Amino acid sequence: MTAGLPKELKKEIEDYLRLTKVRPIITPDYVLTEDDVFWLSDLIKEYGTTAVVANLIRSLGKDFPFIITGAHCSMCGREENITLSKTKFCAALSSGWDYVCPICKRRQEDEAEKKRREEAKKFRQQLKKQQEEATQFFTETYLNPDSNWTIPLEKAFYRLSQVYDQTDKDKIAKYIRSMDYDDFLETPYWKAISYHKKRQAGFRCQLCNSDGYLVTHHRDYKRAYGWEIENLSELIVLCDSCHETHHLYN
Ligand SMILES: [Zn+2]
Ligand SMILES: [Zn+2]
Ligand SMILES: [Zn+2]
Repeated sequence: MTAGLPKELKKEIEDYLRLTKVRPIITPDYVLTEDDVFWLSDLIKEYGTTAVVANLIRSLGKDFPFIITGAHCSMCGREENITLSKTKFCAALSSGWDYVCPICKRRQEDEAEKKRREEAKKFRQQLKKQQEEATQFFTETYLNPDSNWTIPLEKAFYRLSQVYDQTDKDKIAKYIRSMDYDDFLETPYWKAISYHKKRQAGFRCQLCNSDGYLVTHHRDYKRAYGWEIENLSELIVLCDSCHETHHLYN
């Protein structure tokens, strides 16, 4: 078998495309040169992919490959004989023949992978930085008993829990647990949570339904202290006397 499409066949193909006469077929029996491939690419530009690819090129079986001799890698210039399935061959033809050898393809993929990894790392670092900033903002603003944070109590909990979601929660809990308890009670954090619970309870004691002076109490102090936002159900609203009774028996 000689490489390169015979002149007569090429002429038949060009005639066919121009005049739509008898349809010649390119089968895998022909070994194509890169010149043939460029010639086919040019025909595609002129007559469209369907006319050239679908009508003129036929593989015998699904996996029957087309052989192209002397294909040049567009990146390193290496010359190779390559075999392509009909699908891949047609795809390469219609996207403009731009052959990249396996070595260069591998290098391209490696570089892309490296870039992806670097971007993922950068993204993680950015997230971490944002988390650190949110944590710092949270402690300085909401966990500061002298904070001059002013927002209506009704809205405070939602605002605060939005910021909380972005923080390092372990650090927040650790910070709270290291605080003086009286200071803690004065923080916007606790005031907002406590108010939120009282409002949910309809400003009544959740044990005796009294509407007297109310406190928000940790049912399971060990578990919930420092983790109030994630354990809202561990907090209960009690009147003064129920609170006292509760502490007496617990
Ligand atoms: Zn190459
Ligand atoms: Zn009560
Ligand atoms: Zn209590």
